[in-house]
Amino acid sequence: MRKKFIITIDGPAGAGKSTVSKILAKNLNYIYLDTGALYRALAYKSLKKNISLEDVDALAGLCSTTAVALKNFDGRIKVYVDGEDVEEKIRTEEVSMTASKISTYAVVREKLLDLQRKTGIRGGVVAEGRDMGSVVFPHAEYKFYLDAKIEERIKRRYKELLDKGSSVEYQSVQNDMLRRDKQDKQRKIAPLIIPDGAVIIDSDNLTVQGVVDKIASYISIK
Ligand code: C5P
Repeated sequence: MRKKFIITIDGPAGAGKSTVSKILAKNLNYIYLDTGALYRALAYKSLKKNISLEDVDALAGLCSTTAVALKNFDGRIKVYVDGEDVEEKIRTEEVSMTASKISTYAVVREKLLDLQRKTGIRGGVVAEGRDMGSVVFPHAEYKFYLDAKIEERIKRRYKELLDKGSSVEYQSVQNDMLRRDKQDKQRKIAPLIIPDGAVIIDSDNLTVQGVVDKIASYISIK
């Protein structure tokens, strides 16, 4: 039987990780694991419950009473919070910023660690996030760090939100992106770094297919 690898793709928001990871997973017949969705799911619940993001005890309580689950639909994994499919509700800027804030806390990261490892540990997974190659799957066979210029990442995120029908301002997307970058890179636990052994790919001057092809060129599946 063909060996099924763990492929990790880390990088900042707007670098194109989701688009590329989805295509790559589909091409390889692997599971696409969107770990940002898990942090977003808990962020969604904390917003729903009106929990102060500075209140660690309240967040710990939320973590211990919330069921976060992943269900696989033909390789496309969906995230559920207490049995509710939250996919459509977790892609807003408010949820992005809340996810970035709560993901700085150990209690939140610990809650989600096992679930991520259980989903990917047998291989056949493209795992996308901030700490895939550094913390969650340090022994992954293939690690990538996808990056792009900040202006390009803001433009992509802005377009994505407009396409979804949001009436967001460019300036506010810019502010959020800068804050999120800083928070994700400077937090103490599992910050966004270039993992040991990761191949760095700059998506600035590449099409989506160009990035997919470049990543695929490193992966030898026999
Ligand atoms: O990737 P996405 O933009 O959906 O992630 C939302 C937020 O979740 C990130 O800004 C980051 O703070 C957090 N996150 C994380 N670790 C991951 C994936 C996401 O801390 N592996």
